[in-house]
Amino acid sequence: MKKFLFTFSLLIICMSCNAQKVEIKKLESSNPTITERPKLVVGIVVDQMRYDYLTRFEGRYGESGFKRLINNGFNCKNNHFNYIPTYTGPGHASVYTGTTPKYHGIISNNWYDKASGDFVYCAGDDSFESVGTTDKAGKMSPYRMQTTTFTDENRLFTQMRGKTIGISIKDRGAILPAGHTANAAYWFHGKDEGRFISSTFYMNELPKWVQDFNDKKSAEKYFKVWNTLYDIDTYNESGADLNNFEGGFNGKDTATFPYDLAALKNKNGGYDILKATPYGNSIVTDFALAALDSENLGQDNDTDVLAISYSSTDYIGHNFGVNSKEIEDTYIRLDLELERLLNNLDAKVGKGNYTVFLTSDHGAVEVPAYLESMHIPAGYINNGNTNKKFKTFMLETFGVDDLIANVSNNQVFLNYERLAELNLELEDVQEAIIEELISYDSVYKVYKAKTMNSTAFTTGIEMLLQLGYNQKRSGDILIVGDPGFISYSKTGSTHGSGFNYDTHVPLIFYGFGINKGETVERTEITDVAPTISSLLNISFPNGAIGTPIEKAIN
Ligand code: ZN
Ligand code: ZN
Ligand code: ZN
Repeated sequence: MKKFLFTFSLLIICMSCNAQKVEIKKLESSNPTITERPKLVVGIVVDQMRYDYLTRFEGRYGESGFKRLINNGFNCKNNHFNYIPTYTGPGHASVYTGTTPKYHGIISNNWYDKASGDFVYCAGDDSFESVGTTDKAGKMSPYRMQTTTFTDENRLFTQMRGKTIGISIKDRGAILPAGHTANAAYWFHGKDEGRFISSTFYMNELPKWVQDFNDKKSAEKYFKVWNTLYDIDTYNESGADLNNFEGGFNGKDTATFPYDLAALKNKNGGYDILKATPYGNSIVTDFALAALDSENLGQDNDTDVLAISYSSTDYIGHNFGVNSKEIEDTYIRLDLELERLLNNLDAKVGKGNYTVFLTSDHGAVEVPAYLESMHIPAGYINNGNTNKKFKTFMLETFGVDDLIANVSNNQVFLNYERLAELNLELEDVQEAIIEELISYDSVYKVYKAKTMNSTAFTTGIEMLLQLGYNQKRSGDILIVGDPGFISYSKTGSTHGSGFNYDTHVPLIFYGFGINKGETVERTEITDVAPTISSLLNISFPNGAIGTPIEKAIN
């Protein structure tokens, strides 16, 4: 009996051994899905690109630039920034982190730092040195951005094997997208140099291919005559070339074609003039293609990221305005830059092996003076007069003139030390200021910071303001101007508000893993990073609040 039991139990053990083997085999043969990934993700941010630039100039675009992305990719036609303020620093940070200034901390391009009392720059960092120039323009890093980008998460996921390179005319347009773990970020230094530079945050000297690019004086060939690409009489989707709403260049009386850049360069900052022409975009493409080659991007199984930001569109918009011939020509030419970039990606990485997304960092308002001339409510905020009136009010109400530490970015920062010395309650002072400011012309809404912390807004301007409000960094009183009103020169366009002209921007996905299609359902800029993270099947950026756009990815 004992023997039988022993044999029987052995048999059971062996049976279960076999069963386990079968189980393991089964698992192996069912071959759990291994995520396939693109070899390269190319993020393209077009600075100050309004959504309607895709549609207004559609008839002038070829089949291989914007239209290639739209017709073969996924077009989110109702994509918006979901916070205030809509500036370049916050914009680039939000695209790549999937969150807003409330969490990533880039509350503007420059802001008053409550702790130090200094004005700080979003990408400035004095603990690093310039690389590639003796100028201070390289003392930069992304450290003020407090959350991770999808580029960071990709680096962590691939054990730092997947590369990240950021490229732009503007430092912040290269640095913030490339994230904290980037291999490199490069930006264009104009003046009398015309070179791509970097920071010791990334490297101690420029790699040879960058030195070669700079040594060849690659930017110099663009000191030529900027004329319209096609006969200007065929440019029907913009206003007259000569009008009252454009800035122009020093040394030329009118903001009209043609612009002789070689003749104008000395009065317009040397190489800096190129930034404000379509050739700034060409220089960025030239450099991006050099990076693609020399850094072997997209050549192995660890996904690389090339983050490109075209900044010239923003300079041109600020100078000439949304409705200018100069903007129409700039986008016709940018379409050709995209074609050149995509053709090279096909050749070097292979059609279907890479994923592209194209979006913007904010939109822009039509020149308010032009809108006024068309009877649309718009105009200009006179900062000088407003400040004077406000100072007088403070003095008359509180008997002192130093209760305000700073006013910037539509925010009032109070001087807490003085409040304490004078035994003033923060909230009383805030209430008094709010009542005063709301009575001013072109002030639409005024809020105290506490409201941003105590109420959860789910819609409208209040929600945008809240998502842009950072408790550690933002001011004590938040001001929203009327729609169409800006504090800016009477020529050219600007941006920064929460109105649709500033929030509505293109968002197109294309290539590996992307469905063909489009949607008019609302998507938000914070959805971009989660969508790419989902495509790569990696962790989302640590502060991401957006949602993957499911219809876009297969
Ligand atoms: Zn911008
Ligand atoms: Zn013009
Ligand atoms: Zn701008």
